[in-house]
Amino acid sequence: SEKLKMAGQLAAGIAHEIRNPLTSLKGFSKLLMNATGEQAERYYEIMDQEFVRIEMILGELLVLAKPQQTSDYRAQDVRLIMHEVADLLSSQAILSNVIIQEQMTPEPCIVRCDKNQLKQVFVNIVKNAIEAMPTGGLLVIAIERDGEDVMVKVVDQGGGIPENILRRLGEPFFTTKEKGTGLGLMISHKIIEEHDGHIRYDSRSGEGTTVTIRLPQSSGGHRV
Ligand code: ADP
Ligand code: MG
Repeated sequence: SEKLKMAGQLAAGIAHEIRNPLTSLKGFSKLLMNATGEQAERYYEIMDQEFVRIEMILGELLVLAKPQQTSDYRAQDVRLIMHEVADLLSSQAILSNVIIQEQMTPEPCIVRCDKNQLKQVFVNIVKNAIEAMPTGGLLVIAIERDGEDVMVKVVDQGGGIPENILRRLGEPFFTTKEKGTGLGLMISHKIIEEHDGHIRYDSRSGEGTTVTIRLPQSSGGHRV
């Protein structure tokens, strides 16, 4: 019943999120019939943005559909995956004056995981951290071994997450951003769960956020 509830929530969310840009597309395509020149161009532009919006939402949902089909679990060093993500997002960070500092243990941090899925999680979390600091700041990414786990911390100096929002993280389509999809954390939570990991948020309004992800190590010798 939990799954059915989630499916219902998702379906309602998708319908709502897709209907808005569709309504707008319908309206502007009508207007376009009688428009010319600069006005027509302006309408095209708006319509293009709505198409991009629909594409973005569907793109994120497809990622959600993938895990069951194509999980590819291998022993991977989490430090390398995170380093690729930091590289990937470095230009976005620079644009908002965010400095990314990687603090990685020299010890290997091997986890049995689907690399692309874990990458998706790290992209979502690091992106959220960058987006939390629109006027810049320090973003620390720390990775170390902790007992039988690998511990990944993403620490930002953004506005923090108030308690009433903390409780809703991971709810499909829950976003406080004007252009957010509210799908990143839902997808991330699902992937981490499938990897037998945990994710937690430590945050107070005005004091930044620390996201901690724990994943079981595969080369610890304690796990088969
Ligand atoms: P989106 O980024 O599209 O809004 P997410 O699922 O990634 O969707 O995040 C949901 C919400 O969680 C965000 O809109 C934001 O309110 C909150 N959030 C997540 N990470 C952070 C963070 N590091 N700092 C502040 N708020 C955050
Ligand atoms: Mg996000």
